Amino acid sequence: MAPAAQMQAKAPMKIAYLMVDDAPSRDFAGKVRFLRDRSVPAVFFCLGKDIAANEKPLVEAISAGFVIGNHAWSHGKFSDMPLLDCLKEIAIADKAVRGLYAKAGAKRPANLFRFPYLDKGGHQNGGEYFNSPFGRMFMNKGNGAPLSASNGGIMAYTNLEKKQAIQDFLGVLGYAQPKFNGLSAEWYALDGLRADRDTIATYNTWEYAPGRLGLDAPAHIKDENGVLAHVVAQWTQNENGKHIIHIPLIHDRKDAHIDSSELFRKVVDMMLQIGVEFLLPRFA
Ligand SMILES: [Zn+2]
Repeated sequence: MAPAAQMQAKAPMKIAYLMVDDAPSRDFAGKVRFLRDRSVPAVFFCLGKDIAANEKPLVEAISAGFVIGNHAWSHGKFSDMPLLDCLKEIAIADKAVRGLYAKAGAKRPANLFRFPYLDKGGHQNGGEYFNSPFGRMFMNKGNGAPLSASNGGIMAYTNLEKKQAIQDFLGVLGYAQPKFNGLSAEWYALDGLRADRDTIATYNTWEYAPGRLGLDAPAHIKDENGVLAHVVAQWTQNENGKHIIHIPLIHDRKDAHIDSSELFRKVVDMMLQIGVEFLLPRFA
């Protein structure tokens, strides 16, 4: 019999880097309380346009140890916008996030950027991005299963120059991807994704999909039970002794279009029940 400590060390880990998009919603302070109660750390990627009206809860979240990242100013699709507009979206949201840290009197632990729709601006238009293997996997009836592009990659960029110009600009503003060790998504090694400066996600939780007409969720995401079963599947597949390490795509939405605040909580509690450990990544 191996000693207990040794057995524990050999058990496969389940690690989630919780990064919440589209913050701050009307439920933002509630989510912060909910996560604090469970000692779950998180990054909230905020829309620049919504920061000023929610300054107090955002500053409180920073003081409580949560990380505020940049999710652009207005949530446009970067592949649909001219390069200069993309850069402006990043820069003015950056200024708003910087202002929050100044108000909190806290050092920004890292400059983190998450593209709206995970669209890095590397396609001729948004439609083309959504129909790329990556776009289909994440946003367009995909179930997280890897698809491959004709070049064996997954991104199938058609405007690599613009994609690179945006990455370079992120670099100028001091943005870098945190260090993620051993992410389970094998495609993360493709297309230079590891070297990019933005922060990616590795599967879509689809918690915002139930009841939303016209959204291209995969067929098995019909309702709350479908979402929870989908989450369980992500954390129990490949359980042949391998670690499962993911960055789930999940949202802070409570508005006229989507209110996923209850399902957000159910998803996090389900993950805790499965034994998922929530960590912040190591910032570069
Ligand atoms: Zn978003």
